[in-house]
Amino acid sequence: MAAITMTNIVKRYGDGFPAVNDVSLAVQDGEFMILVGPSGCGKSTLLRMIVGLEDITAGEMRIGDRLVNTVAPRQRNLSMVFQNYALYPHLTVFENIAFPLRLAKVPGDEVDRRVRQTAELLELTEHLDRKPANLSGGQRQRVAMGRAIVRDADAFLFDEPLSNLDAKLRGQMRTEISRLQRRLGVTTVYVTHDQTEAMTLGDRVAVLRKGELQQVGSPRELYEQPANLFVAGFIGSPSMNFLPATLEGADLRTPLGDLRLDDRRKVDAVGERSVVLVGVRPEHFEDASLVSEEKRARGAVLRARVDVTEWLGNELYAYVPYEAPPDLATRLRDLSQELDSDQLRTQAVVALDPSSRVHAGQDVELWVNTARLHLFDPSTGENLT
Ligand code: ATP
Repeated sequence: MAAITMTNIVKRYGDGFPAVNDVSLAVQDGEFMILVGPSGCGKSTLLRMIVGLEDITAGEMRIGDRLVNTVAPRQRNLSMVFQNYALYPHLTVFENIAFPLRLAKVPGDEVDRRVRQTAELLELTEHLDRKPANLSGGQRQRVAMGRAIVRDADAFLFDEPLSNLDAKLRGQMRTEISRLQRRLGVTTVYVTHDQTEAMTLGDRVAVLRKGELQQVGSPRELYEQPANLFVAGFIGSPSMNFLPATLEGADLRTPLGDLRLDDRRKVDAVGERSVVLVGVRPEHFEDASLVSEEKRARGAVLRARVDVTEWLGNELYAYVPYEAPPDLATRLRDLSQELDSDQLRTQAVVALDPSSRVHAGQDVELWVNTARLHLFDPSTGENLT
């Protein structure tokens, strides 16, 4: 096993915009690292540079202590699982798993022993004689994983391995991959655009956007201390609300009402900025009518009219529209390079306790946990809190 160390990695295709721009990331020995970001952010390119399927334009790639920039893929001793599994249809499950061992000219009895051991681990023993066409999607996925883990690779690399599976199977495979990785304790880099996979699988998550690393941290760190607007909006579902606000004294004036900042540091962080974006996660609102007096005093109460509700059994989402004052909205649009148009939405999503009786058309009071709100600079996207 080995650590993977990327230092100032750049990838340019032709002479265009860099697909990966100055990324430095250290994956520790035995760590499960997720690369996540929207389509085109460069995550597959980065993974392909680790494996050696893509040349590195600049920077250093190390596996263990070895500089591998110019080392051929086969000499890197890494195992990759692709999105489309790439199983050989004419070979049995046994031979598909055995394939890398045959390539490496491992003796027959050793092949037999290792394939059976791997099949046991992945619960594929009873399917060893079948062809891929006669397997379910999940079983095929496990064969692809079997082929990756059957040899003693220094690290596993996964490129969106679950994206072809239906939601239920994806959930199952997620737990299987997680269990397997912990059992084998092997360094793993896993690419996905799915934030649920990112949050549940990895020890740490690296968030990429437009070829640049935005933040690296544990799922909890990304959720609780997002470095910027992009990470804040990307991690968490439904995503964080961003309310435009101006600060007067210790009061943040938002289109849904005033939020008093008890924390002096937050007031100071706003500094001379005329407008900020207040980040409130949907789950940090509560139905104020169900909140104790003591708790009410520890937060702020906003007033809103509910437009639509969605009751999911374990959650109740209420959508509350608001109107940003026109001058503020324009100013924000000018200031903001970081916000996508849907993040400048004019409704907030509020996740309430499903026992709440809140319904469409109702005027409600919403309690906000002001200790947990974030303040963002609308022009740089930086989290000021
Ligand atoms: P997705 O989730 O859609 O696969 P990604 O985050 O993995 O996206 P990459 O496939 O790494 O993104 O692509 C990053 C950027 O590099 C994109 O703008 C893409 O168009 C560009 N790109 C990728 N491969 C090539 C190539 N072979 N030639 C030219 N440009 C490429």
